[in-house]
Amino acid sequence: MPQTLNLTSEVQVFPCPNCGQTINTSMQSCRFCGALLDRDASLQAANETSRVSKAVSDASYVRILAGVAIGFIFLRFLPFVGLIGIFGFAFLEIAIPVLLIRWWVRYRGLQTTDPDFPRAKKTVVLTAAGVVLFFVLRITKIVVISPF
Ligand SMILES: [Zn+2]
Repeated sequence: MPQTLNLTSEVQVFPCPNCGQTINTSMQSCRFCGALLDRDASLQAANETSRVSKAVSDASYVRILAGVAIGFIFLRFLPFVGLIGIFGFAFLEIAIPVLLIRWWVRYRGLQTTDPDFPRAKKTVVLTAAGVVLFFVLRITKIVVISPF
């Protein structure tokens, strides 16, 4: 029976520190440039790579939800499906700010050369700006979304 559960046995990908090609943690040397790989450094790089891809996918998820929230605003003025819009929007109105804050806390300080990451960060900042603007417009009653 193994003494510790080996969670690192799963092969993960990361960019070679020498040539930047995508390689995996099962390799002892890079198959593109032949650079020797340090196991611990490889695992750390692989963890960072998966965190970056999570950050990128989480950011696009929030952006999609923001689009859905805008859809719900229009939906609530329609007959029959209006309730879906009302409840859907009420949910997203809370969920989106929570997801944005969570993203910022988790990924803000991520150090990476991956060009997708600054793009994801920009998406989050713009979505947050949109949310803030929306709340300001609502509070000042410039936008009135309640159909009642
Ligand atoms: Zn290499």
